[in-house]
Amino acid sequence: GFKCGIVGLPNVGKSTIFNAITSAGAESANYPFCTIEPNVGVVSVPDPRLDALAAIVKPQRVLPTTIEFVDIAGLVRGASRGEGLGNQFLGHIRQVDAIANIVRCFDDDNVVHVDGSVDPLRDIEVIQTELNLADLDTLEKRLSRIQKQAKSGDKELKAQQEVLEKVREVLNAGKPARAAGLSDEERGLVYDLHLITAKPVLYVANVAEDDLQGEHPHVARVRELAAREGAEAVAICGKIEAEIAELDGEEKQEFLKEMGLECSGLDRMIQAGYQLLGLITYFTAGVKEVRAWTIRQGDRAPQAAGVIHSDFEKGFIRAEVIAYDDFVACRGEAGAKEKGLLRLEGKDYVVQDGDVMHFRFNV
Ligand code: GDP
Repeated sequence: GFKCGIVGLPNVGKSTIFNAITSAGAESANYPFCTIEPNVGVVSVPDPRLDALAAIVKPQRVLPTTIEFVDIAGLVRGASRGEGLGNQFLGHIRQVDAIANIVRCFDDDNVVHVDGSVDPLRDIEVIQTELNLADLDTLEKRLSRIQKQAKSGDKELKAQQEVLEKVREVLNAGKPARAAGLSDEERGLVYDLHLITAKPVLYVANVAEDDLQGEHPHVARVRELAAREGAEAVAICGKIEAEIAELDGEEKQEFLKEMGLECSGLDRMIQAGYQLLGLITYFTAGVKEVRAWTIRQGDRAPQAAGVIHSDFEKGFIRAEVIAYDDFVACRGEAGAKEKGLLRLEGKDYVVQDGDVMHFRFNV
């Protein structure tokens, strides 16, 4: 599954938000997952299309797709200069696909800010500096290893060295590795370093209860920064999320309506994460189970099948595909087939958001 790491300075509301995520996940926990570590929260991705499909197919069970949030503690100003960011921190953050950077935008005299005042842009800079330094460290270590091996004249090492030097320049200028504008090929050459600042970022502005409506100047600044960087930003209120996480489906809807909100902050975080990672959803719709699956935009049919099981990918023969709208308009597979709207697609088919799929494969 896709993983989003949560980072932030102390006292910005990380634990509050993470706890809301975990209890929201526990609430809907009918997943066939094994034991989950305490710093991992699995949440379902809300998708009204799933309910529409279920209403037609009437399956035994309905399973939404999920996204994992990983609480990555240990980021403080100066961390990478002193003892260094802990190995545990680095180990966790290297594994995630995207980073949610929680920044404090709520004023509350009872909650001390580590730097004395609420200033989200300064917080973002502190975090970026720490992550930059961690990446520089990783990169220098690799570069010095390559230099030792350079005599071998290995072309691939040479190519990697060139990319690393390019990235080093960007990092030294105080910018994240993702600003280096690497080509796909270049990215591939340095992929195994798992550079932290190469990962996409979602800024989560943690606002006061009263500031959820309208736009607080703090939040506006965070949004501007995100727009400049091609990142995503959402405003959420940790305190309210904690309350929402305690409610079940109907109560939750009522509470949101009362607050004048369309969906919870957590739902907005998930949507933004989807956007940021270029993720889309396809469905399988059988009488046993109607289920949503997450893939990347541009994934082809065999890769999509591989999300269900690696054997589906290896033995892929073809896929039967019905577009979501057609499936709903024809009230199901039989109707769609009658109208000639069930397509047979091969291994080069690029899966579209909402596709209802059935895979044929060899075992
Ligand atoms: P962490 O150190 O980043 O994990 O921060 P915590 O989640 O422990 O929050 C630090 C303090 O800020 C706690 O006392 C929270 O109750 C408080 N806090 C968190 N979110 C909000 C919020 O949205 N509004 C207000 N007023 N306080 C909050």
